[in-house]
Amino acid sequence: MRYKTKDIGEGGIDLRVAVTAAWLAAECPDASLGLTKAGMCLEGRLEPAGEGYLLRGTLRGELLVPCARCLEPAPVAVESPVDVTFVEASGDTGANAQETQEDVVSFEHGTIDLGRPLRDEILLAVPMGPVCRPDCAGICPACGRNRNLTPCDCDTRALETSKFGVLAKIKLQ
Ligand SMILES: [Zn+2]
Ligand SMILES: [Zn+2]
Repeated sequence: MRYKTKDIGEGGIDLRVAVTAAWLAAECPDASLGLTKAGMCLEGRLEPAGEGYLLRGTLRGELLVPCARCLEPAPVAVESPVDVTFVEASGDTGANAQETQEDVVSFEHGTIDLGRPLRDEILLAVPMGPVCRPDCAGICPACGRNRNLTPCDCDTRALETSKFGVLAKIKLQ
């Protein structure tokens, strides 16, 4: 995901960067993300703009995100525009000052790394509370079974009792 500015040249280059499951696991270790067969890909163009370089493209594909109810992987279609400016860090004025600006990423040594902005875009694309299907029954809080797969008839009063029972035992110890 690294590009040398000398290879980008005056005319810019077209990009097609495939996101791999291994990369996702390394870059977003806490998000438990996966990919479906549809995969995920950033397509766009990286070209000189003013003092820096502009990446314009689209991140498109399908992510697997843990379902908020049953924790099974839920497919989430992603199609987000990507618009990032890369500015070369120059000595003291450096990365920090420039990066306070949104969608501006600094680079050094003539090498632009798409990894970080790509990771940010992917994490932004993950919805809050995704569900594997609208009527997902979730995990039974009493027996811990995935109720989509194994319907159970635990009643909630039993749950309350066992929950408080456990708490009471802990307190007594
Ligand atoms: Zn679910
Ligand atoms: Zn149950």
